[in-house]
Amino acid sequence: MTQECIFCKIIAGDIPAALLYEDDDILAFNDISPAAPVHILVIPRKHMRGPASLSEADQSLIGKMVLKGTELAIDAGLADGYRLVMNNGENAGQTVFHLHLHVLGGRSMTWPPG
Ligand code: AMP
Ligand code: ZN
Repeated sequence: MTQECIFCKIIAGDIPAALLYEDDDILAFNDISPAAPVHILVIPRKHMRGPASLSEADQSLIGKMVLKGTELAIDAGLADGYRLVMNNGENAGQTVFHLHLHVLGGRSMTWPPG
């Protein structure tokens, strides 16, 4: 648990979240400020700043996050298309510095992202 990390506080149960899934390694919950009709975040319980903090030892963890994100997208009815996004660093738009995977869908999207 890192002080002042909002996602660590969700993991600790100190602030509420609309939980969709949890196990010993990861949690998934609805984004509080959705950028699409479906906007889910998948996070590890372990505090890591972002994708750049991942090491080889985390391969199964990050794989699990991606697989769960895809499963939740399908469960949400997004088989026709969805986007999995991880932002790394302020220039990429990262605002919460606890690793997270965005699962976005339910509307048509453009490329490249802004
Ligand atoms: P990023 O910009 O990639 O760091 O994404 C952080 C995401 O966390 C944003 O989409 C926020 O809306 C979302 N967020 C921030 N605080 C909360 C919260 N308390 N519960 C759920 N989602 C949150
Ligand atoms: Zn954290």
